[in-house]
Amino acid sequence: MHLKMPKPRLNVLIVGAGLGGLSAAIAIRLAGHEVLVLEQASTLSEVGAGIQVPPNSSRFLISWGLREAMDRVSVLPEVMRFRSYRDGGILNEQPLVPLTEEVYGGPYWHCHRADFHKVLLEKCQTIGRLTVEVRINSMVIKIDFEAPSVTLSTGGTIGADLIVGSDGLKSRCREQLLGHSDPPHLTGDLAYRILVKAEEMRKHKDLEEFVNKPAINTWMGPNAHAVCYLLKDQGYYNMVLICPDNMPGGVNVMSADPTEVLEFFKSWDPKLQKMISLVSSVSKWRLQNGTEMASWTHPSGKFALLGDACHATLPYLAQGAAIAVEDGGVLGGLLGKLEDRSQLPALLRAYEGLRKNRTTKIVTGSTDMRDILHMEDGEKQKRRDAVLLADDIKPGF
Ligand code: FAD
Repeated sequence: MHLKMPKPRLNVLIVGAGLGGLSAAIAIRLAGHEVLVLEQASTLSEVGAGIQVPPNSSRFLISWGLREAMDRVSVLPEVMRFRSYRDGGILNEQPLVPLTEEVYGGPYWHCHRADFHKVLLEKCQTIGRLTVEVRINSMVIKIDFEAPSVTLSTGGTIGADLIVGSDGLKSRCREQLLGHSDPPHLTGDLAYRILVKAEEMRKHKDLEEFVNKPAINTWMGPNAHAVCYLLKDQGYYNMVLICPDNMPGGVNVMSADPTEVLEFFKSWDPKLQKMISLVSSVSKWRLQNGTEMASWTHPSGKFALLGDACHATLPYLAQGAAIAVEDGGVLGGLLGKLEDRSQLPALLRAYEGLRKNRTTKIVTGSTDMRDILHMEDGEKQKRRDAVLLADDIKPGF
């Protein structure tokens, strides 16, 4: 006979209830640990726009039992198309169904961010008999990495066995870990985010193809590109239009006049212009990046960063949230293997070792993608288009 010691159950505190923080909360709770998520906002929600959920993240979501919930709120794009900016001519078309399931182990979902966030939140609230506590109005202002504990803006202190900082691009956790201020840097690009009512588009025969068959359509042109796809229940067509940053200093998100967007894209595919002309409101977002960090973990072995807090990226591979979901899945998977509390520092080093190279590759790959998407007309652009037309590329995740 031998006696098996019960696995240790840690108290894990997560800072930030974004897509990354909630994913980590689910994975860590499923691994058998107690989880408290602290969120500064007074309500739990997400930005009013669409999001692409590629298979490298959908397969984690499925492993957490979220297939049905995500299917309910998502559309499955059948193909990914790259188009010329001038006339929308298709330069390349890649099938996604059944490729992503067969080769990469999960579907490619398109959904509204608020729906995605709600699916994660509902899972947090009902993991079998267990729950994850998500506490709003809880802004963390200070971290004691050795204790470890956090201090809230309201003055209270909360201790834990492990603290995970998933507080996004302007992460206070990151600055505390570095010991100095480290604001995000400008990338020179902005994103117009637009939702067009699908029923408005259906009134125009030449736009029907975009709302009748789900697909990812990307128009590529000088200094800019547009990524557009259909969403489900809200009946919206989601448009993300990238162009050079013209926002006033100090402002990162603001509303914009659709005429401003039309002016920039006036020499682009008339169908794209028509879609833009159907909207009454547009928001624009300054696109910012973080600087790569030497390490995401504290030497105490009781703190780690996750998501945009440590690897914010340009969205040109649609991977920012996806790799935050992966971070949560990997961290949860490792914490599920914990036999003894003394293993925690080594486990966090393993987490960083498994994640850092991959996320750095995606961050730099996203920046490189800008050069490919934003080519000026000329010889280089002609060579790019020839490669696309020859179908010499395949999507990889
Ligand atoms: P966040 O979403 O920023 O969440 C951080 C949370 O922490 C917030 O709720 C915040 O309120 C909270 N918080 C902050 N500070 C504190 C504090 N001190 N105390 C307590 N709480 C705090 N990614 C994809 O995978 N697919 C896409 O299609 C895609 N498209 C994109 C399009 C655009 C235009 C942009 C800009 C990004 C896109 N991304 C996409 C990237 C994606 O949005 C982000 O990578 C992702 O949302 C990051 O999640 P996060 O949880 O790490 O951070």
